Amino acid sequence: MTTLKEAIDRFRENYNKLSDEDKNMIDGIENDGTPEEYAVTKKEAAETIKRLGKKGTFDRLDTIIAARSKMKDSRAQNEVSDSYSKVQLLLISNSTNAGEEYLEYCRQDIAEFLKSCGASKALFFPFAAVTFSCDEYERKVQERLQPLGVEVESIHRVGDAPKAVSEAQAIMVGGGNTFHLLKAIQDLNLTEAVRSRVQSGAPYVGWSAGSNLACPTICTTNDMPIVEPKNFSSFNLVPFQINPHYLDAHPTGHAGETREQRLQEYIAANPRRYVAGLREACMLRLTSGKLTLHGERSMRVFKAGQPPLELQPADSLQFLLA
Ligand code: ASP
Repeated sequence: MTTLKEAIDRFRENYNKLSDEDKNMIDGIENDGTPEEYAVTKKEAAETIKRLGKKGTFDRLDTIIAARSKMKDSRAQNEVSDSYSKVQLLLISNSTNAGEEYLEYCRQDIAEFLKSCGASKALFFPFAAVTFSCDEYERKVQERLQPLGVEVESIHRVGDAPKAVSEAQAIMVGGGNTFHLLKAIQDLNLTEAVRSRVQSGAPYVGWSAGSNLACPTICTTNDMPIVEPKNFSSFNLVPFQINPHYLDAHPTGHAGETREQRLQEYIAANPRRYVAGLREACMLRLTSGKLTLHGERSMRVFKAGQPPLELQPADSLQFLLA
């Protein structure tokens, strides 16, 4: 059976004659999407090619594009009405504001969020820690959250990790190195278990790397790939990407890319995805299907072919879930 890659290679010679929109769609098929989406697209493309046999290249291409759009539309409708009504997320940009104690600015929000979801205990994922131990990380988080009535137990001490995930009242994922975190979760084979637990209603709290992991992939992290995960696919709890610690500043005399330039590169390669540049001291909250921004700063949103948007806490963010 023809693979999507082979089909696209065959279309290559005609690629430059396509409209920008169609080019984007083709690029998106190659570069973007979760493994599940990719598999569906690949299957549809292969079936379409088989069915149409020797018909003209552009007919086939059009059909693939149409199938892809159809899939995207139905996905948007279903997820807004069904999937997201149960999903409860608190996605925090950074753990610590400059000059403050660890988790100081957000620990009250974490406690209130969990309480409002009926959870008093969280299963903690400490694997983003690299230069200190998981025991230390657990202790540090416990010290800040226990006084607010949140019990924290780290998964690294649990005997049966898949069982602990499936029974967790809440999932909490701490920051650090995003690649280290994802690799550990993949090595334990827990990606799908966490996703399904959160999709069935367990609240999820993440900060920094923990917020990166709530996205379809970790491709908009700021971290260096110090270890190599199997792939970049993460929990896929929201259909957009987050860049935590989003920064506007660019030191004078520094010739490297700005954060915005780096994200412009991401959207050029992944034109279907929105990216939310979440500035420090800010967080996104998803409850009852409604996504809201909290904090003192606006959020900068990027999408291919559109100028960046500056969104305030009062603005509707529902388009990010479509
Ligand atoms: N290293 C960051 C954190 O978890 C994540 C990031 O910047 O993407 O604190």
